[in-house]
Amino acid sequence: MKIVPISVPTPFYVGPVNVYLIAEEPLTLIDTGPKTKEATEALREGLRRARVRVSDLRRIVLTHAHEDHCGLAKQLRDEAKDAEVLVHGWETGHRVGRLEYDEHRALLERAGVPAGEIAEMRRMYEGVRRYADALEDHEHAELVDEEEIKFEKGALRVVHTPGHTPGSCSFLREADRTVIAGDCVLKRITPNPVLSPDPVDPARRFRSLAEYLVSLARLRSLHPTLVYGGHGEAVEDYEELFNRYLRAINERQTEVVRLIPKTGATAWDIALELFPGAGDVHRFLATSEAVAHLDLAHSEGRLAVELNNGREVYRKP
Ligand SMILES: [Zn+2]
Ligand SMILES: [Zn+2]
Repeated sequence: MKIVPISVPTPFYVGPVNVYLIAEEPLTLIDTGPKTKEATEALREGLRRARVRVSDLRRIVLTHAHEDHCGLAKQLRDEAKDAEVLVHGWETGHRVGRLEYDEHRALLERAGVPAGEIAEMRRMYEGVRRYADALEDHEHAELVDEEEIKFEKGALRVVHTPGHTPGSCSFLREADRTVIAGDCVLKRITPNPVLSPDPVDPARRFRSLAEYLVSLARLRSLHPTLVYGGHGEAVEDYEELFNRYLRAINERQTEVVRLIPKTGATAWDIALELFPGAGDVHRFLATSEAVAHLDLAHSEGRLAVELNNGREVYRKP
Protein backbone atom coordinates (compact mmCIF):
# COMPACT_ATOMS: atom_id res chain seq x y z
CA MET A 1 0.00 0.00 0.00
CA LYS A 2 1.63 3.21 -1.17
CA ILE A 3 1.21 6.53 0.67
CA VAL A 4 1.63 9.48 -1.69
CA PRO A 5 1.89 12.91 -0.02
CA ILE A 6 0.43 15.83 -1.99
CA SER A 7 1.13 19.39 -0.84
CA VAL A 8 -1.87 21.69 -1.28
CA PRO A 9 -1.77 25.49 -0.76
CA THR A 10 -4.06 27.15 1.81
CA PRO A 11 -4.92 30.82 2.38
CA PHE A 12 -4.06 30.33 6.07
CA TYR A 13 -1.07 31.42 8.12
CA VAL A 14 -0.05 27.78 8.65
CA GLY A 15 0.91 27.42 4.96
CA PRO A 16 0.30 24.39 2.70
CA VAL A 17 -1.57 21.36 4.01
CA ASN A 18 -0.53 17.76 3.36
CA VAL A 19 -3.07 15.52 1.69
CA TYR A 20 -2.26 11.81 1.41
CA LEU A 21 -3.32 9.54 -1.40
CA ILE A 22 -3.43 5.86 -0.50
CA ALA A 23 -2.61 4.43 -3.93
CA GLU A 24 -4.31 1.09 -3.41
CA GLU A 25 -7.83 -0.16 -4.09
CA PRO A 26 -10.19 1.20 -2.97
CA LEU A 27 -8.41 4.48 -3.78
CA THR A 28 -8.52 6.66 -0.70
CA LEU A 29 -7.64 10.26 0.04
CA ILE A 30 -6.74 11.35 3.55
CA ASP A 31 -7.76 15.03 3.91
CA THR A 32 -8.55 17.24 0.95
CA GLY A 33 -7.29 20.82 1.28
CA PRO A 34 -9.46 23.95 1.53
CA LYS A 35 -12.11 24.98 -0.98
CA THR A 36 -10.06 27.32 -3.16
CA LYS A 37 -9.21 27.27 -6.85
CA GLU A 38 -5.48 26.97 -6.07
CA ALA A 39 -6.02 23.99 -3.76
CA THR A 40 -8.27 22.22 -6.26
CA GLU A 41 -5.67 22.66 -9.00
CA ALA A 42 -2.78 21.47 -6.82
CA LEU A 43 -4.74 18.44 -5.69
CA ARG A 44 -5.74 17.49 -9.25
CA GLU A 45 -2.15 17.89 -10.38
CA GLY A 46 -0.91 15.70 -7.53
CA LEU A 47 -3.47 13.01 -8.34
CA ARG A 48 -2.63 13.22 -12.05
CA ARG A 49 1.04 12.59 -11.25
CA ALA A 50 -0.06 9.45 -9.40
CA ARG A 51 -2.28 8.52 -12.39
CA VAL A 52 -5.46 8.87 -10.39
CA ARG A 53 -8.58 10.75 -11.42
CA VAL A 54 -10.88 12.35 -8.85
CA SER A 55 -13.64 10.13 -10.19
CA ASP A 56 -11.55 7.05 -9.25
CA LEU A 57 -11.55 7.97 -5.54
CA ARG A 58 -13.70 5.64 -3.46
CA ARG A 59 -13.04 7.00 0.03
CA ILE A 60 -12.23 10.34 1.62
CA VAL A 61 -10.97 10.04 5.18
CA LEU A 62 -10.65 13.18 7.32
CA THR A 63 -8.10 13.52 10.11
CA HIS A 64 -10.31 16.32 11.49
CA ALA A 65 -12.83 18.89 10.34
CA HIS A 66 -10.72 22.05 10.02
CA GLU A 67 -11.30 23.90 6.76
CA ASP A 68 -7.75 23.41 5.46
CA HIS A 69 -8.22 19.62 5.80
CA CYS A 70 -11.89 19.01 4.96
CA GLY A 71 -12.79 21.93 2.67
CA LEU A 72 -13.03 19.99 -0.59
CA ALA A 73 -14.58 16.81 0.85
CA LYS A 74 -18.07 17.46 -0.44
CA GLN A 75 -16.96 18.56 -3.88
CA LEU A 76 -14.70 15.51 -4.30
CA ARG A 77 -17.38 13.19 -2.96
CA ASP A 78 -19.88 14.51 -5.48
CA GLU A 79 -17.42 14.32 -8.36
CA ALA A 80 -16.33 10.80 -7.36
CA LYS A 81 -19.98 9.69 -7.44
CA ASP A 82 -20.64 9.36 -3.74
CA ALA A 83 -17.26 8.23 -2.55
CA GLU A 84 -17.52 7.43 1.14
CA VAL A 85 -16.51 10.25 3.52
CA LEU A 86 -15.28 9.16 6.94
CA VAL A 87 -14.77 11.43 9.96
CA HIS A 88 -14.78 10.76 13.71
CA GLY A 89 -18.12 11.30 15.45
CA TRP A 90 -16.62 13.75 17.96
CA GLU A 91 -15.77 16.04 15.09
CA THR A 92 -19.45 16.77 14.66
CA GLY A 93 -19.69 19.04 17.73
CA HIS A 94 -17.48 21.16 15.61
CA ARG A 95 -19.21 19.83 12.59
CA VAL A 96 -17.74 19.66 9.13
CA GLY A 97 -17.97 23.36 8.32
CA ARG A 98 -20.48 24.13 11.08
CA LEU A 99 -18.99 25.48 14.26
CA GLU A 100 -21.59 25.56 17.01
CA TYR A 101 -21.82 29.29 17.68
CA ASP A 102 -23.87 29.35 20.85
CA GLU A 103 -21.71 26.77 22.55
CA HIS A 104 -18.54 28.55 21.52
CA ARG A 105 -19.89 31.91 22.64
CA ALA A 106 -20.65 30.49 26.08
CA LEU A 107 -17.13 29.04 26.34
CA LEU A 108 -15.56 32.35 25.29
CA GLU A 109 -17.68 34.35 27.75
CA ARG A 110 -16.63 32.04 30.56
CA ALA A 111 -12.99 32.54 29.50
CA GLY A 112 -13.47 36.30 30.05
CA VAL A 113 -13.38 37.32 26.38
CA PRO A 114 -15.16 40.72 26.01
CA ALA A 115 -18.38 40.76 23.94
CA GLY A 116 -16.84 42.94 21.20
CA GLU A 117 -13.97 40.49 20.78
CA ILE A 118 -16.35 37.54 20.59
CA ALA A 119 -18.28 39.32 17.82
CA GLU A 120 -14.99 39.97 16.02
CA MET A 121 -13.95 36.31 16.36
CA ARG A 122 -17.28 35.28 14.91
CA ARG A 123 -16.78 37.60 11.94
CA MET A 124 -13.34 36.11 11.39
CA TYR A 125 -14.77 32.62 11.54
CA GLU A 126 -17.41 33.51 8.96
CA GLY A 127 -14.49 34.36 6.68
CA VAL A 128 -12.74 31.06 7.40
CA ARG A 129 -15.74 28.83 6.90
CA ARG A 130 -16.07 29.89 3.28
CA TYR A 131 -13.21 27.49 2.68
CA ALA A 132 -15.26 24.37 3.40
CA ASP A 133 -18.58 22.96 2.21
CA ALA A 134 -20.68 21.47 4.97
CA LEU A 135 -21.59 17.80 4.67
CA GLU A 136 -25.10 16.62 5.44
CA ASP A 137 -25.42 13.88 8.05
CA HIS A 138 -26.13 11.23 5.40
CA GLU A 139 -23.05 12.29 3.43
CA HIS A 140 -20.50 11.01 5.92
CA ALA A 141 -19.91 7.95 8.07
CA GLU A 142 -18.06 7.62 11.36
CA LEU A 143 -14.48 6.64 11.95
CA VAL A 144 -14.24 4.39 14.98
CA ASP A 145 -11.16 4.03 17.18
CA GLU A 146 -9.18 0.82 16.55
CA GLU A 147 -11.23 -0.01 13.47
CA GLU A 148 -9.37 -1.05 10.33
CA ILE A 149 -9.72 0.78 7.04
CA LYS A 150 -9.16 -2.11 4.68
CA PHE A 151 -7.46 -2.12 1.28
CA GLU A 152 -6.88 -4.87 -1.25
CA LYS A 153 -3.37 -5.05 0.15
CA GLY A 154 -3.01 -3.96 3.74
CA ALA A 155 -4.98 -1.79 6.11
CA LEU A 156 -4.79 1.37 8.16
CA ARG A 157 -5.79 1.21 11.82
CA VAL A 158 -7.76 4.19 13.16
CA VAL A 159 -6.15 5.68 16.26
CA HIS A 160 -8.35 8.33 17.88
CA THR A 161 -5.93 11.08 18.96
CA PRO A 162 -8.03 13.90 20.44
CA GLY A 163 -6.44 17.19 21.53
CA HIS A 164 -6.05 19.57 18.61
CA THR A 165 -9.77 18.87 18.11
CA PRO A 166 -11.96 16.31 19.94
CA GLY A 167 -12.36 14.03 16.92
CA SER A 168 -8.81 14.17 15.54
CA CYS A 169 -7.71 10.77 14.26
CA SER A 170 -4.41 9.24 13.19
CA PHE A 171 -3.95 6.23 10.94
CA LEU A 172 -1.42 3.47 11.49
CA ARG A 173 0.03 1.21 8.81
CA GLU A 174 1.03 -1.65 11.07
CA ALA A 175 3.43 -3.36 8.63
CA ASP A 176 6.09 -0.66 9.10
CA ARG A 177 4.47 1.45 11.86
CA THR A 178 4.02 4.48 9.63
CA VAL A 179 1.47 6.93 11.02
CA ILE A 180 -0.57 9.64 9.28
CA ALA A 181 -1.35 12.00 12.14
CA GLY A 182 -3.06 15.13 10.77
CA ASP A 183 -2.47 18.13 13.04
CA CYS A 184 -1.68 15.97 16.07
CA VAL A 185 2.00 15.87 15.05
CA LEU A 186 3.64 18.79 13.24
CA LYS A 187 7.38 18.90 12.79
CA ARG A 188 7.96 22.61 13.28
CA ILE A 189 5.14 23.85 15.49
CA THR A 190 3.40 22.62 18.63
CA PRO A 191 -0.24 22.07 17.63
CA ASN A 192 -2.81 24.36 19.23
CA PRO A 193 -5.35 22.65 21.52
CA VAL A 194 -8.32 24.47 19.98
CA LEU A 195 -11.09 25.58 22.36
CA SER A 196 -14.04 23.25 21.72
CA PRO A 197 -17.24 22.20 23.45
CA ASP A 198 -17.04 18.71 24.95
CA PRO A 199 -18.67 16.41 22.36
CA VAL A 200 -20.28 14.36 25.13
CA ASP A 201 -21.57 17.36 27.11
CA PRO A 202 -21.46 20.50 24.93
CA ALA A 203 -22.17 22.78 27.91
CA ARG A 204 -18.69 21.91 29.20
CA ARG A 205 -15.45 22.47 27.44
CA PHE A 206 -13.24 19.76 26.07
CA ARG A 207 -10.13 19.15 28.20
CA SER A 208 -8.01 19.55 25.09
CA LEU A 209 -4.51 19.65 26.55
CA ALA A 210 -4.98 16.74 28.98
CA GLU A 211 -6.45 14.69 26.13
CA TYR A 212 -3.64 15.76 23.84
CA LEU A 213 -0.98 14.54 26.28
CA VAL A 214 -2.71 11.14 26.36
CA SER A 215 -2.81 11.05 22.54
CA LEU A 216 0.90 11.87 22.27
CA ALA A 217 1.69 9.05 24.69
CA ARG A 218 -0.58 6.68 22.81
CA LEU A 219 1.22 7.41 19.53
CA ARG A 220 4.51 6.87 21.33
CA SER A 221 3.36 3.43 22.47
CA LEU A 222 2.97 2.50 18.78
CA HIS A 223 6.72 3.15 18.27
CA PRO A 224 6.17 4.95 14.96
CA THR A 225 9.03 4.84 12.49
CA LEU A 226 7.67 7.69 10.36
CA VAL A 227 4.89 10.18 11.08
CA TYR A 228 3.20 12.14 8.29
CA GLY A 229 1.75 15.36 9.74
CA GLY A 230 -0.91 17.72 8.45
CA HIS A 231 1.64 20.42 7.63
CA GLY A 232 5.37 20.41 6.90
CA GLU A 233 7.78 17.52 6.55
CA ALA A 234 7.33 14.02 7.94
CA VAL A 235 8.77 13.26 11.37
CA GLU A 236 11.37 10.49 11.46
CA ASP A 237 12.28 10.79 15.13
CA TYR A 238 9.01 10.75 17.04
CA GLU A 239 10.82 10.29 20.36
CA GLU A 240 12.67 13.59 19.86
CA LEU A 241 9.44 15.37 18.90
CA PHE A 242 7.57 13.84 21.86
CA ASN A 243 10.21 15.08 24.31
CA ARG A 244 10.34 18.49 22.65
CA TYR A 245 6.54 18.87 22.81
CA LEU A 246 6.50 17.85 26.47
CA ARG A 247 9.22 20.36 27.31
CA ALA A 248 7.36 23.13 25.45
CA ILE A 249 4.09 22.27 27.20
CA ASN A 250 5.77 22.19 30.63
CA GLU A 251 7.50 25.51 30.01
CA ARG A 252 4.22 27.13 29.02
CA GLN A 253 2.50 25.63 32.08
CA THR A 254 5.11 27.24 34.31
CA GLU A 255 4.78 30.55 32.48
CA VAL A 256 0.97 30.56 32.69
CA VAL A 257 1.03 29.87 36.44
CA ARG A 258 3.66 32.58 36.92
CA LEU A 259 1.55 35.13 35.02
CA ILE A 260 -1.42 34.77 37.38
CA PRO A 261 -1.46 37.89 39.63
CA LYS A 262 -2.56 37.90 43.28
CA THR A 263 -5.86 39.46 42.26
CA GLY A 264 -6.55 36.57 39.85
CA ALA A 265 -6.93 36.52 36.06
CA THR A 266 -9.18 35.14 33.34
CA ALA A 267 -7.99 33.07 30.38
CA TRP A 268 -8.43 36.16 28.22
CA ASP A 269 -6.09 38.20 30.48
CA ILE A 270 -3.50 35.43 30.21
CA ALA A 271 -3.94 35.15 26.42
CA LEU A 272 -3.12 38.86 26.07
CA GLU A 273 -0.05 38.45 28.29
CA LEU A 274 1.17 35.39 26.38
CA PHE A 275 0.59 36.82 22.92
CA PRO A 276 0.48 40.62 23.22
CA GLY A 277 0.74 41.16 19.47
CA ALA A 278 -1.94 38.64 18.46
CA GLY A 279 -4.52 40.06 16.09
CA ASP A 280 -7.69 38.76 14.42
CA VAL A 281 -7.97 34.94 14.24
CA HIS A 282 -4.87 34.54 16.41
CA ARG A 283 -6.77 35.98 19.36
CA PHE A 284 -9.05 32.96 19.28
CA LEU A 285 -6.05 30.62 19.11
CA ALA A 286 -4.32 32.59 21.89
CA THR A 287 -7.45 32.22 24.04
CA SER A 288 -7.55 28.48 23.23
CA GLU A 289 -3.94 28.13 24.32
CA ALA A 290 -4.51 30.00 27.59
CA VAL A 291 -7.70 28.06 28.43
CA ALA A 292 -6.01 24.72 27.68
CA HIS A 293 -3.07 25.49 29.97
CA LEU A 294 -5.22 26.93 32.75
CA ASP A 295 -7.43 23.81 32.65
CA LEU A 296 -4.39 21.56 32.94
CA ALA A 297 -2.81 23.63 35.75
CA HIS A 298 -6.15 23.59 37.57
CA SER A 299 -6.58 19.84 37.17
CA GLU A 300 -3.09 19.35 38.61
CA GLY A 301 -3.90 21.54 41.63
CA ARG A 302 -1.52 24.35 40.66
CA LEU A 303 -4.35 26.88 40.30
CA ALA A 304 -7.75 27.42 41.86
CA VAL A 305 -10.71 28.74 39.90
CA GLU A 306 -13.93 30.51 40.85
CA LEU A 307 -16.82 31.83 38.82
CA ASN A 308 -17.18 35.61 39.04
CA ASN A 309 -20.00 37.25 37.03
CA GLY A 310 -20.03 34.30 34.66
CA ARG A 311 -16.27 34.46 34.10
CA GLU A 312 -13.74 31.99 35.43
CA VAL A 313 -11.08 33.70 37.53
CA TYR A 314 -7.91 31.75 38.30
CA ARG A 315 -5.82 32.26 41.42
CA LYS A 316 -2.80 30.62 42.95
CA PRO A 317 -4.04 28.47 45.82
ZN1 LIG B 1 -6.35 21.63 12.39
ZN1 LIG C 1 -4.17 21.97 9.78
